[in-house]
Amino acid sequence: MYDLCRDNLDENAKVIHDKLDEFTEDQINITNGMLSDIILRCRSEWVADYDTNKFAMNILKNNEKISCELCGYHSIHEVFYIKNRVNNTRLRVGSSCITNYELQPFGKGKSVKQARKEYLQSENEIQLSKQYPELRKRLEKWNSRLNDYDVLIPINIETEYNAIKEKIKHEITRYIEGKAKNFDELELSLEDERSILKRLDEYNYNNKGKEFVATKEIKVWLERNHKKRTLEKLKQSGYVNSETIADIQEKNFVEFVLSIIRTKLKNTSLSVNHNLVNDIFVITGLEDNVQLKCGVGKTLSTFGEEILSKENPLVKLTVANVVIVSEPLNSNSTRRIIDRLKKKNYKSDIRILTGGFGKEYDYVARNEINLQIKRTEMVIVENLQRFIQEFKHFALDISITNVQQRLNDYVDKSESKKYTLKYLTDLRDTDFNKRKY
Ligand SMILES: [Zn+2]
Repeated sequence: MYDLCRDNLDENAKVIHDKLDEFTEDQINITNGMLSDIILRCRSEWVADYDTNKFAMNILKNNEKISCELCGYHSIHEVFYIKNRVNNTRLRVGSSCITNYELQPFGKGKSVKQARKEYLQSENEIQLSKQYPELRKRLEKWNSRLNDYDVLIPINIETEYNAIKEKIKHEITRYIEGKAKNFDELELSLEDERSILKRLDEYNYNNKGKEFVATKEIKVWLERNHKKRTLEKLKQSGYVNSETIADIQEKNFVEFVLSIIRTKLKNTSLSVNHNLVNDIFVITGLEDNVQLKCGVGKTLSTFGEEILSKENPLVKLTVANVVIVSEPLNSNSTRRIIDRLKKKNYKSDIRILTGGFGKEYDYVARNEINLQIKRTEMVIVENLQRFIQEFKHFALDISITNVQQRLNDYVDKSESKKYTLKYLTDLRDTDFNKRKY
């Protein structure tokens, strides 16, 4: 047996078969006893020869045919490359020999059929990239391509655009898997691609630069600020509307909005500026140089309809309304507002107390206001910020309603505890840091 193997290592099966005829009876018996073991071992020695190509197989072109080096059959055009991993013999064989000798060159998990399929798909992929060299790259960039436009693309066009991608991918798969024999179907979806690109260009051209159009910058800003819902709403129409305006604080858009606000307020004393750092509008041009502020979001949600020039807006852009939604810019403005109120209020039943509690007492720092009822001399302490909210428009001559009456009502309605002036003074003198009264 050893002799047989050594002498005929490089011969094909036919030669070995002929040699077996020359065996003596004893040799045949021995060989038979060993045979199944030998065959199993021999089979496992043959593995796919990937040195030839990455599929270890080839389908010969142009009707070319070669002979199988295992059985000698001379007319194979589907060639499998196998290699003996013990002695490095390389053979080119047909698929029937792989099947008949029960070889598993591709390992246990992979059949000849599977190997053939992978080979054919790779061939198709080559054909595809020859025909459409840029197609795969275009598909990869498909979604990000929408970011190239100056304006946000509305959802109906985007949906159509994405559907065409799926269609193209589907046709590619059909071609690669051999289900489509030519590029006719794929060509149709590529036609769709060209027409949707044309539509996108047109949409961009027709809408860019228009007032309130959702720009690329707004889109990026919304994404960066995780305002997904606003972006979705914006995609419905492609334009900012009263539903979305308050959520958009992109720099250029805010500047644009500011120019509208200025135009609408141009016949008043007010002047408005944007403080980018704190994202607020600063309002000046008020009595005693009082400065107010209003958050950009709050301004947009309050005056959105007016800014969008809607008919009969919910809140009009007037000096009064601007003052009502705003608050003092700083403690200086707070003090000026309170001082003005004190002056206007001198005949009232209520006295506004800001000092006289020891020199360390600062009502603004403590955010509280002391209101003394003249008749009983008792004092209530209220939240300064809320108090300003209620009374600043009186201080700034916006409201002509009787401020004395309003103050009386305010104190009457208050459920705050009443203190004597002495009690508060003693408390603040000795322990001004504690808020307990
Ligand atoms: Zn063969």
